[in-house]
Amino acid sequence: MRAVLAAVGGIVRRCGLWAAAFLLAAVLAVSGCGGVPGDLPRDWSGSGAGAGGAGSGGGAAAQTAEPYQVLNDNVPYFTEEELAGGWESFETYSPLDLLGRCGPAFASVGQDLMPTEERGNISQVKPSGWQTARYDTVDGEYLYNRCHLIGFQLTGENANERNLITGTRYMNVEGMLPFENMTADYIKETGNHVLYRVTPEFEGMELVARGVRMEAQSVEDGGEGIQFCVFVPNIQPGIEIDYATGDSRPAGEAEGAEGEIADYVLNTNTRKFHRPDCGSVEEMKAENREDFRGTREELLAKGYEPCSRCRP
Ligand SMILES: [Zn+2]
Repeated sequence: MRAVLAAVGGIVRRCGLWAAAFLLAAVLAVSGCGGVPGDLPRDWSGSGAGAGGAGSGGGAAAQTAEPYQVLNDNVPYFTEEELAGGWESFETYSPLDLLGRCGPAFASVGQDLMPTEERGNISQVKPSGWQTARYDTVDGEYLYNRCHLIGFQLTGENANERNLITGTRYMNVEGMLPFENMTADYIKETGNHVLYRVTPEFEGMELVARGVRMEAQSVEDGGEGIQFCVFVPNIQPGIEIDYATGDSRPAGEAEGAEGEIADYVLNTNTRKFHRPDCGSVEEMKAENREDFRGTREELLAKGYEPCSRCRP
């Protein structure tokens, strides 16, 4: 069902039928979406959505995920028609949907599209799910970058809101940049074109993309020089992201919101506090046990430490 929803989300975005109430209608209207450049391949929903190790629902722990995964043996899903149209430079960016989310960005990148000016300020653009979040563990401290779908070095699009998503530093630098650099170098060296498409993949109504699909193929040499098809997950090692909102927290940290009232069991002897269902609670001597209802912060203020077993 998740996959279906994700696919529907994509279809909705692409067809311009926005309201959730029209989801079913959108499914039925798929055939009416033809003619949009770069129609999504049939397995679009499945390949990316789960690939980043992303869990359903809120936060996704992704410590072990690679910066990208190869799709379809690295062969882009371009149609013959799209490939034939790649001999001349062009660039297209999807209109934002009602949630303010980007759709596919598609170009045939030639030297004539590449920027001749320095990159300007893009801080006025607020992509969907945008938040300022800083962590010591993140390179540059900021979790999120305004992440170009088609890199500035390729088409020179700077503060174009249709080309910027909320992306992690890791996705931007470790995941996408090497592919952009490779493509840019090839075009500069050969003067050839590269058909290039980046598709942000959202699940349902989430505001932050789960990742991007990047597809590229050099045109004049039929993919000899450049050919790739990858999914780059929008993750940051050590950080959990709530893709619905853009909220984040260090991985493994308690889910309870700050100030949330809950039941705890205190050990007045060890000065540890536990979740009521923690195994240590059963083992606790009755005279050391004290039940507590309140916030985690209150307990910390009293000098209690969270149990390392139940991690309350
Ligand atoms: Zn415990």
